Amino acid sequence: MRIAVAKEIEVCERRVALNPDTVGRLIKQGLEVWVEAGAGERAFFSDAAYEAAGAKIVHHTDELWGSTDILLKVSPPQEREDGRTEIDLMREGTLLISFLNPLGNPVVAQQLANRKVSALSMELIPRTTRAQSMDALSSQASLAGYKSVLIAAAALPKYFPMLTTAAGTIAPAKVFIIGAGVAGLQAIATARRLGAVVEAFDIRPAVKEEVQSLGAKFVEVKLEEETTAAGGYAKEISEASKQRTQEVIAEHVKNSDVVITTAQVPGKTAPLLVTAEMVAQMKPGSVVVDLAAEQGGNCACTEPGKDIVWNGITIIGPINLPSSMPVHASQLYSKNLTSLLQLLIKDKTLNLDFADDIINAACITHGGEIRNQRVKDALQNAVLR
Ligand code: NAD
Repeated sequence: MRIAVAKEIEVCERRVALNPDTVGRLIKQGLEVWVEAGAGERAFFSDAAYEAAGAKIVHHTDELWGSTDILLKVSPPQEREDGRTEIDLMREGTLLISFLNPLGNPVVAQQLANRKVSALSMELIPRTTRAQSMDALSSQASLAGYKSVLIAAAALPKYFPMLTTAAGTIAPAKVFIIGAGVAGLQAIATARRLGAVVEAFDIRPAVKEEVQSLGAKFVEVKLEEETTAAGGYAKEISEASKQRTQEVIAEHVKNSDVVITTAQVPGKTAPLLVTAEMVAQMKPGSVVVDLAAEQGGNCACTEPGKDIVWNGITIIGPINLPSSMPVHASQLYSKNLTSLLQLLIKDKTLNLDFADDIINAACITHGGEIRNQRVKDALQNAVLR
Protein backbone atom coordinates (compact mmCIF):
# COMPACT_ATOMS: atom_id res chain seq x y z
CA MET A 1 0.00 0.00 0.00
CA ARG A 2 1.56 3.26 -1.14
CA ILE A 3 0.74 6.64 0.37
CA ALA A 4 1.97 9.83 -1.30
CA VAL A 5 2.34 13.35 0.09
CA ALA A 6 1.98 16.03 -2.57
CA LYS A 7 3.77 19.36 -2.60
CA GLU A 8 1.17 22.12 -2.29
CA ILE A 9 1.10 24.49 -5.27
CA GLU A 10 -1.46 26.98 -3.90
CA VAL A 11 0.60 30.17 -3.43
CA CYS A 12 -0.57 30.88 0.14
CA GLU A 13 -0.33 27.27 1.32
CA ARG A 14 2.68 26.58 3.54
CA ARG A 15 1.31 23.48 5.25
CA VAL A 16 2.16 19.90 4.29
CA ALA A 17 -0.13 16.89 4.72
CA LEU A 18 2.29 14.73 6.76
CA ASN A 19 5.29 15.73 8.85
CA PRO A 20 8.38 13.46 9.06
CA ASP A 21 7.36 12.14 12.47
CA THR A 22 4.05 10.72 11.25
CA VAL A 23 5.68 9.42 8.06
CA GLY A 24 8.01 7.38 10.30
CA ARG A 25 5.04 5.92 12.17
CA LEU A 26 3.25 4.87 8.98
CA ILE A 27 6.40 3.24 7.67
CA LYS A 28 6.72 1.28 10.93
CA GLN A 29 3.24 -0.08 10.20
CA GLY A 30 4.58 -1.55 6.95
CA LEU A 31 3.22 1.13 4.61
CA GLU A 32 5.22 2.69 1.80
CA VAL A 33 5.36 6.51 1.84
CA TRP A 34 6.41 8.71 -1.05
CA VAL A 35 6.95 12.44 -0.49
CA GLU A 36 7.22 14.93 -3.35
CA ALA A 37 10.58 16.76 -3.27
CA GLY A 38 10.25 20.05 -1.38
CA ALA A 39 6.76 19.18 -0.01
CA GLY A 40 7.69 20.15 3.55
CA GLU A 41 10.03 23.02 2.71
CA ARG A 42 7.64 25.86 3.56
CA ALA A 43 6.80 24.15 6.87
CA PHE A 44 10.52 23.75 7.67
CA PHE A 45 10.57 19.96 7.14
CA SER A 46 13.44 19.06 4.84
CA ASP A 47 13.54 16.25 2.29
CA ALA A 48 16.41 14.82 4.36
CA ALA A 49 14.12 14.60 7.43
CA TYR A 50 11.50 12.67 5.43
CA GLU A 51 14.19 10.42 3.99
CA ALA A 52 15.55 9.74 7.46
CA ALA A 53 12.01 8.74 8.51
CA GLY A 54 12.01 6.17 5.70
CA ALA A 55 10.12 7.99 2.91
CA LYS A 56 11.11 7.93 -0.75
CA ILE A 57 11.59 11.45 -2.13
CA VAL A 58 10.03 11.75 -5.57
CA HIS A 59 11.12 14.52 -7.93
CA HIS A 60 8.55 14.01 -10.68
CA THR A 61 5.04 15.22 -9.82
CA ASP A 62 3.36 13.06 -12.49
CA GLU A 63 5.06 9.93 -11.14
CA LEU A 64 3.99 10.67 -7.57
CA TRP A 65 0.35 11.51 -8.37
CA GLY A 66 -0.06 8.80 -10.99
CA SER A 67 1.25 5.77 -9.13
CA THR A 68 -0.05 5.97 -5.58
CA ASP A 69 -2.98 4.27 -3.83
CA ILE A 70 -3.66 7.16 -1.46
CA LEU A 71 -2.76 10.79 -2.15
CA LEU A 72 -2.63 13.18 0.82
CA LYS A 73 -2.97 16.93 0.46
CA VAL A 74 -3.96 20.05 2.38
CA SER A 75 -5.54 22.42 -0.18
CA PRO A 76 -8.14 21.36 -2.77
CA PRO A 77 -6.70 20.36 -6.18
CA GLN A 78 -5.44 23.33 -8.16
CA GLU A 79 -4.83 24.38 -11.75
CA ARG A 80 -1.22 23.81 -12.73
CA GLU A 81 1.05 26.09 -14.71
CA ASP A 82 1.05 23.63 -17.62
CA GLY A 83 -2.74 24.04 -18.04
CA ARG A 84 -3.65 20.68 -16.49
CA THR A 85 -5.32 20.40 -13.10
CA GLU A 86 -3.90 18.28 -10.31
CA ILE A 87 -6.91 15.97 -10.76
CA ASP A 88 -5.71 15.24 -14.31
CA LEU A 89 -2.57 13.72 -12.78
CA MET A 90 -4.48 11.08 -10.83
CA ARG A 91 -5.16 7.58 -12.04
CA GLU A 92 -8.54 5.92 -11.74
CA GLY A 93 -9.22 4.33 -8.35
CA THR A 94 -6.80 6.46 -6.33
CA LEU A 95 -8.06 7.75 -2.97
CA LEU A 96 -7.53 11.48 -2.41
CA ILE A 97 -7.75 12.83 1.15
CA SER A 98 -7.65 16.61 1.52
CA PHE A 99 -9.62 19.72 2.33
CA LEU A 100 -11.81 19.87 -0.79
CA ASN A 101 -14.36 22.61 -0.05
CA PRO A 102 -17.08 20.47 -1.70
CA LEU A 103 -19.98 22.65 -0.55
CA GLY A 104 -18.31 25.93 -1.58
CA ASN A 105 -16.85 24.60 -4.84
CA PRO A 106 -18.81 21.45 -5.79
CA VAL A 107 -17.39 21.50 -9.33
CA VAL A 108 -14.24 19.88 -7.88
CA ALA A 109 -16.39 16.93 -6.75
CA GLN A 110 -17.73 16.52 -10.29
CA GLN A 111 -14.18 16.59 -11.71
CA LEU A 112 -13.06 13.96 -9.18
CA ALA A 113 -16.03 11.76 -10.00
CA ASN A 114 -15.34 12.11 -13.75
CA ARG A 115 -11.76 11.01 -13.10
CA LYS A 116 -13.15 8.03 -11.08
CA VAL A 117 -11.13 9.12 -8.07
CA SER A 118 -12.44 8.33 -4.58
CA ALA A 119 -12.20 11.41 -2.40
CA LEU A 120 -12.51 12.06 1.32
CA SER A 121 -13.17 15.65 2.25
CA MET A 122 -11.65 16.67 5.59
CA GLU A 123 -14.40 19.30 5.99
CA LEU A 124 -17.01 16.54 6.11
CA ILE A 125 -15.52 14.46 8.92
CA PRO A 126 -18.39 14.37 11.44
CA ARG A 127 -17.91 16.44 14.61
CA THR A 128 -18.46 13.42 16.87
CA THR A 129 -16.46 12.15 19.84
CA ARG A 130 -15.19 9.13 17.86
CA ALA A 131 -13.96 11.38 15.05
CA GLN A 132 -12.34 13.97 17.32
CA SER A 133 -8.74 12.96 16.50
CA MET A 134 -9.54 13.31 12.76
CA ASP A 135 -11.28 16.68 13.08
CA ALA A 136 -9.06 18.92 10.96
CA LEU A 137 -11.61 21.75 10.94
CA SER A 138 -11.13 22.01 14.70
CA SER A 139 -7.35 21.59 14.75
CA GLN A 140 -6.92 24.31 12.13
CA ALA A 141 -9.61 26.67 13.46
CA SER A 142 -7.90 26.65 16.81
CA LEU A 143 -4.66 27.89 15.22
CA ALA A 144 -6.60 30.62 13.41
CA GLY A 145 -8.26 31.76 16.63
CA TYR A 146 -4.93 32.04 18.40
CA LYS A 147 -3.23 33.90 15.55
CA SER A 148 -6.13 36.34 15.10
CA VAL A 149 -5.51 37.72 18.58
CA LEU A 150 -1.78 38.12 17.99
CA ILE A 151 -2.53 39.99 14.75
CA ALA A 152 -4.98 42.23 16.57
CA ALA A 153 -2.53 42.88 19.41
CA ALA A 154 0.22 43.79 16.94
CA ALA A 155 -2.07 46.20 15.05
CA LEU A 156 -3.55 47.86 18.17
CA PRO A 157 -1.74 51.05 19.15
CA LYS A 158 -2.20 50.07 22.81
CA TYR A 159 -1.20 47.50 25.40
CA PHE A 160 -3.48 44.47 25.90
CA PRO A 161 -2.88 43.95 29.66
CA MET A 162 -3.55 46.26 32.56
CA LEU A 163 -0.26 47.66 33.78
CA THR A 164 0.55 49.60 36.90
CA THR A 165 3.82 51.42 36.38
CA ALA A 166 5.72 54.33 37.91
CA ALA A 167 4.58 56.33 34.89
CA GLY A 168 0.92 55.61 35.54
CA THR A 169 -1.71 52.94 35.13
CA ILE A 170 -2.71 51.46 31.79
CA ALA A 171 -6.27 50.17 31.43
CA PRO A 172 -6.62 46.73 29.79
CA ALA A 173 -7.76 46.47 26.19
CA LYS A 174 -11.39 45.52 25.63
CA VAL A 175 -11.79 42.64 23.20
CA PHE A 176 -15.15 41.53 21.79
CA ILE A 177 -15.29 38.13 20.11
CA ILE A 178 -18.26 37.29 17.90
CA GLY A 179 -18.80 33.56 17.35
CA ALA A 180 -17.64 31.25 20.13
CA GLY A 181 -16.99 28.04 18.18
CA VAL A 182 -13.56 26.43 18.04
CA ALA A 183 -11.73 29.52 16.69
CA GLY A 184 -13.64 31.94 18.91
CA LEU A 185 -12.96 29.98 22.11
CA GLN A 186 -9.24 29.81 21.31
CA ALA A 187 -9.30 33.56 20.58
CA ILE A 188 -10.94 34.17 23.97
CA ALA A 189 -8.30 32.07 25.76
CA THR A 190 -5.46 33.84 23.94
CA ALA A 191 -6.81 37.35 24.55
CA ARG A 192 -7.29 36.50 28.24
CA ARG A 193 -3.69 35.22 28.47
CA LEU A 194 -2.54 38.55 27.06
CA GLY A 195 -4.49 40.29 29.82
CA ALA A 196 -7.40 41.80 27.90
CA VAL A 197 -10.92 42.12 29.24
CA VAL A 198 -12.94 39.85 26.96
CA GLU A 199 -16.60 39.66 26.00
CA ALA A 200 -18.05 37.13 23.58
CA PHE A 201 -21.31 36.62 21.71
CA ASP A 202 -22.75 33.61 19.92
CA ILE A 203 -26.29 32.80 18.83
CA ARG A 204 -25.92 29.30 20.33
CA PRO A 205 -26.73 29.77 24.04
CA ALA A 206 -25.03 26.44 24.82
CA VAL A 207 -21.59 28.08 24.58
CA LYS A 208 -22.27 30.46 27.50
CA GLU A 209 -20.60 28.22 30.09
CA GLU A 210 -17.54 27.55 27.92
CA VAL A 211 -17.10 31.30 27.38
CA GLN A 212 -17.40 32.00 31.08
CA SER A 213 -15.02 29.18 32.04
CA LEU A 214 -12.35 30.91 29.93
CA GLY A 215 -12.78 34.10 31.94
CA ALA A 216 -14.85 36.08 29.44
CA LYS A 217 -18.26 37.66 29.81
CA PHE A 218 -21.00 36.13 27.65
CA VAL A 219 -23.16 38.70 25.90
CA GLU A 220 -26.64 37.28 26.01
CA VAL A 221 -29.40 37.93 23.48
CA LYS A 222 -32.69 36.14 24.01
CA LEU A 223 -33.96 34.92 20.63
CA GLU A 224 -37.35 33.35 20.09
CA GLU A 225 -36.18 30.59 17.78
CA GLU A 226 -33.94 27.51 17.78
CA THR A 227 -30.44 28.62 16.76
CA THR A 228 -28.62 25.28 16.94
CA ALA A 229 -28.79 22.74 14.12
CA ALA A 230 -27.79 19.07 14.05
CA GLY A 231 -24.16 18.43 15.03
CA GLY A 232 -24.04 21.49 17.29
CA TYR A 233 -23.66 23.95 14.42
CA ALA A 234 -25.46 27.29 14.15
CA LYS A 235 -28.54 27.73 11.97
CA GLU A 236 -29.23 30.68 9.73
CA ILE A 237 -31.52 32.95 11.78
CA SER A 238 -34.62 34.97 10.83
CA GLU A 239 -34.53 38.67 9.85
CA ALA A 240 -36.15 39.62 13.18
CA SER A 241 -33.46 37.73 15.14
CA LYS A 242 -30.73 39.27 12.98
CA GLN A 243 -32.00 42.74 13.81
CA ARG A 244 -32.23 41.93 17.51
CA THR A 245 -28.64 40.60 17.62
CA GLN A 246 -27.31 43.55 15.63
CA GLU A 247 -28.74 46.03 18.12
CA VAL A 248 -26.83 44.28 20.93
CA ILE A 249 -23.67 43.72 18.90
CA ALA A 250 -23.58 47.44 17.97
CA GLU A 251 -23.26 48.53 21.61
CA HIS A 252 -20.39 46.14 22.29
CA VAL A 253 -18.53 46.87 19.05
CA LYS A 254 -18.64 50.59 19.84
CA ASN A 255 -17.02 50.10 23.25
CA SER A 256 -14.30 47.65 22.18
CA ASP A 257 -10.68 48.24 21.21
CA VAL A 258 -10.59 44.97 19.29
CA VAL A 259 -13.39 43.03 17.59
CA ILE A 260 -12.64 39.52 16.34
CA THR A 261 -15.35 37.91 14.25
CA THR A 262 -15.48 34.14 13.66
CA ALA A 263 -19.18 33.50 12.92
CA GLN A 264 -20.04 30.93 10.28
CA VAL A 265 -23.00 28.83 9.22
CA PRO A 266 -21.83 25.67 7.40
CA GLY A 267 -22.50 25.71 3.65
CA LYS A 268 -23.63 29.38 3.63
CA THR A 269 -21.85 32.67 3.17
CA ALA A 270 -20.82 34.08 6.54
CA PRO A 271 -23.50 36.19 8.27
CA LEU A 272 -22.96 39.93 8.07
CA LEU A 273 -22.86 41.02 11.71
CA VAL A 274 -20.73 44.16 11.94
CA THR A 275 -22.04 46.93 9.69
CA ALA A 276 -20.07 49.90 8.40
CA GLU A 277 -22.12 52.11 10.75
CA MET A 278 -20.95 50.03 13.71
CA VAL A 279 -17.31 50.29 12.61
CA ALA A 280 -17.71 54.07 12.21
CA GLN A 281 -18.74 54.25 15.89
CA MET A 282 -15.48 52.62 17.08
CA LYS A 283 -12.67 54.68 18.57
CA PRO A 284 -9.88 55.63 16.13
CA GLY A 285 -7.02 53.12 16.44
CA SER A 286 -9.39 50.22 17.12
CA VAL A 287 -8.95 46.97 15.22
CA VAL A 288 -11.33 44.47 13.61
CA VAL A 289 -9.99 41.03 12.61
CA ASP A 290 -12.50 39.15 10.45
CA LEU A 291 -11.77 35.42 10.45
CA ALA A 292 -14.76 34.82 8.18
CA ALA A 293 -13.15 36.94 5.41
CA GLU A 294 -12.81 33.98 3.04
CA GLN A 295 -16.50 33.08 3.43
CA GLY A 296 -17.71 36.59 2.61
CA GLY A 297 -16.84 38.27 5.92
CA ASN A 298 -18.75 39.08 9.10
CA CYS A 299 -17.84 42.77 8.76
CA ALA A 300 -19.13 44.97 5.94
CA CYS A 301 -15.75 46.72 5.60
CA THR A 302 -13.66 43.55 5.22
CA GLU A 303 -11.61 43.03 2.09
CA PRO A 304 -10.41 39.40 2.02
CA GLY A 305 -6.63 39.14 2.23
CA LYS A 306 -6.18 42.85 2.93
CA ASP A 307 -5.57 45.16 5.90
CA ILE A 308 -7.44 48.40 5.38
CA VAL A 309 -7.69 51.54 7.46
CA TRP A 310 -11.09 53.18 7.35
CA ASN A 311 -11.93 56.25 9.44
CA GLY A 312 -8.92 55.42 11.62
CA ILE A 313 -10.09 51.84 12.27
CA THR A 314 -7.94 48.96 11.00
CA ILE A 315 -9.95 46.13 9.43
CA ILE A 316 -7.97 42.95 8.76
CA GLY A 317 -9.36 40.14 6.59
CA PRO A 318 -6.81 37.34 6.89
CA ILE A 319 -6.87 34.36 4.56
CA ASN A 320 -5.67 30.89 5.54
CA LEU A 321 -4.25 31.81 8.95
CA PRO A 322 -3.35 28.20 9.85
CA SER A 323 -0.87 28.32 6.97
CA SER A 324 0.97 31.16 8.76
CA MET A 325 1.88 28.64 11.50
CA PRO A 326 2.87 25.77 9.19
CA VAL A 327 4.92 23.77 11.69
CA HIS A 328 2.16 23.13 14.21
CA ALA A 329 -0.64 23.34 11.63
CA SER A 330 1.04 20.51 9.68
CA GLN A 331 1.77 18.54 12.84
CA LEU A 332 -1.88 18.62 13.91
CA TYR A 333 -3.19 17.98 10.39
CA SER A 334 -0.77 15.00 10.10
CA LYS A 335 -2.26 13.57 13.26
CA ASN A 336 -5.79 14.08 11.89
CA LEU A 337 -4.84 12.28 8.67
CA THR A 338 -3.04 9.38 10.34
CA SER A 339 -6.02 8.79 12.66
CA LEU A 340 -8.23 8.63 9.58
CA LEU A 341 -5.78 6.28 7.83
CA GLN A 342 -5.97 3.87 10.78
CA LEU A 343 -9.68 3.60 10.04
CA LEU A 344 -9.18 3.17 6.29
CA ILE A 345 -6.33 0.69 6.17
CA LYS A 346 -6.83 -2.85 7.39
CA ASP A 347 -3.99 -5.40 7.04
CA LYS A 348 -2.12 -2.97 4.79
CA THR A 349 -5.00 -2.77 2.32
CA LEU A 350 -7.50 0.01 1.72
CA ASN A 351 -10.93 -0.72 3.15
CA LEU A 352 -13.47 1.98 2.19
CA ASP A 353 -16.19 0.69 4.49
CA PHE A 354 -19.29 2.83 3.96
CA ALA A 355 -20.95 1.20 6.95
CA ASP A 356 -18.56 3.30 9.03
CA ASP A 357 -20.27 6.64 9.72
CA ILE A 358 -17.03 8.65 9.47
CA ILE A 359 -16.00 7.21 6.10
CA ASN A 360 -19.56 7.40 4.82
CA ALA A 361 -19.89 11.10 5.78
CA ALA A 362 -16.48 12.20 4.46
CA CYS A 363 -16.39 10.26 1.17
CA ILE A 364 -17.76 12.56 -1.53
CA THR A 365 -16.89 10.57 -4.66
CA HIS A 366 -16.48 6.88 -5.42
CA GLY A 367 -16.82 4.71 -8.54
CA GLY A 368 -17.39 7.70 -10.81
CA GLU A 369 -20.29 9.09 -8.73
CA ILE A 370 -20.79 11.95 -6.29
CA ARG A 371 -22.14 10.08 -3.27
CA ASN A 372 -23.01 12.91 -0.88
CA GLN A 373 -26.46 14.52 -1.22
CA ARG A 374 -25.38 17.94 0.13
CA VAL A 375 -22.60 18.08 -2.46
CA LYS A 376 -25.04 17.06 -5.21
CA ASP A 377 -27.42 19.82 -4.10
CA ALA A 378 -24.59 22.37 -4.00
CA LEU A 379 -23.59 21.36 -7.53
CA GLN A 380 -27.17 21.67 -8.74
CA ASN A 381 -27.41 25.17 -7.23
CA ALA A 382 -24.07 26.16 -8.77
CA VAL A 383 -25.29 25.02 -12.22
CA LEU A 384 -28.60 26.93 -11.82
CA ARG A 385 -26.69 30.09 -10.90
P1 NAD B 1 -18.31 27.37 12.77
O1 NAD B 1 -16.93 27.69 12.31
O2 NAD B 1 -19.29 26.81 11.80
O3 NAD B 1 -18.95 28.71 13.38
C1 NAD B 1 -18.27 29.47 14.35
C2 NAD B 1 -19.25 30.01 15.37
O4 NAD B 1 -20.07 31.02 14.78
C3 NAD B 1 -20.22 28.97 15.93
O5 NAD B 1 -20.04 28.89 17.33
C4 NAD B 1 -21.58 29.50 15.56
O6 NAD B 1 -22.56 29.24 16.54
C5 NAD B 1 -21.31 30.99 15.43
N1 NAD B 1 -22.33 31.75 14.69
C6 NAD B 1 -22.97 31.42 13.55
N2 NAD B 1 -23.83 32.39 13.18
C7 NAD B 1 -23.73 33.38 14.11
C8 NAD B 1 -24.36 34.64 14.29
N3 NAD B 1 -25.29 35.09 13.44
N4 NAD B 1 -24.01 35.38 15.36
C9 NAD B 1 -23.07 34.92 16.24
N5 NAD B 1 -22.45 33.74 16.14
C10 NAD B 1 -22.77 32.97 15.08
O7 NAD B 1 -18.31 26.42 14.02
P2 NAD B 1 -17.15 25.49 14.60
O8 NAD B 1 -16.26 26.32 15.44
O9 NAD B 1 -16.53 24.73 13.51
O10 NAD B 1 -17.97 24.50 15.54
C11 NAD B 1 -19.26 24.76 15.96
C12 NAD B 1 -19.69 23.70 16.93
O11 NAD B 1 -19.57 22.38 16.39
C13 NAD B 1 -18.91 23.60 18.21
O12 NAD B 1 -19.01 24.62 19.08
C14 NAD B 1 -19.47 22.27 18.72
O13 NAD B 1 -20.74 22.38 19.24
C15 NAD B 1 -19.45 21.49 17.46
N6 NAD B 1 -18.19 20.71 17.44
C16 NAD B 1 -18.22 19.47 17.99
C17 NAD B 1 -17.05 18.73 18.01
C18 NAD B 1 -17.05 17.35 18.59
O14 NAD B 1 -17.99 16.96 19.22
N7 NAD B 1 -16.01 16.58 18.36
C19 NAD B 1 -15.87 19.22 17.48
C20 NAD B 1 -15.89 20.50 16.94
C21 NAD B 1 -17.06 21.24 16.90
